[in-house]
Amino acid sequence: MKIGVYPGSFDPFTIGHLDVLRNAAGLFDTVYIAVLNNNAKSPVFSMEERLSMIDRMIDAEGLSNVRSGAFSGLLVDYAKQIGAQYIIRGLRAITDFDYEFQIDAVNRHLDPEIHTVYFMASPAHSFLSSSNVREIGGMGGSIEGLVPQCNYQYIRERLARQK
Ligand code: ADP
Repeated sequence: MKIGVYPGSFDPFTIGHLDVLRNAAGLFDTVYIAVLNNNAKSPVFSMEERLSMIDRMIDAEGLSNVRSGAFSGLLVDYAKQIGAQYIIRGLRAITDFDYEFQIDAVNRHLDPEIHTVYFMASPAHSFLSSSNVREIGGMGGSIEGLVPQCNYQYIRERLARQK
């Protein structure tokens, strides 16, 4: 069984994330979306909100080999706990590469048996990040098409209320 773990803040999960997830779900037997529980990042959406939006998206997309969960602490420990041999990450630009390069070295140091697999963002999503969804939505701009359709209304209303 090839198991991959796709970690991130997912604050909120975007269609850029979905693109990476679909590719990973096609490659691995099971993919775990691991939502980082890190209050230092001051997420806008609570852990409960992020997980329930992700679960709704998994159902709506019919991704039967995808699961979700929260994690804190070291990713390699969580990976071991769920039996994942691979970490999945997405790359949008050279700035992502720089960061991922460092994280990869750290994770290899912690556990040389866990490897990271990278998917390039599709050109249509290479500008897309959770932070620009939060920014656009918070200023009343349209985020339709930037987040999974099943979560669009919820995210729109939730960000509008923040103003
Ligand atoms: P983190 O806080 O760990 O960077 P994110 O939720 O921002 O978590 O992203 C999780 C992963 O998804 C990262 O590997 C990130 O590079 C990737 N990612 C984010 N947005 C996109 C996108 N538009 N296209 C492809 N990959 C993306």
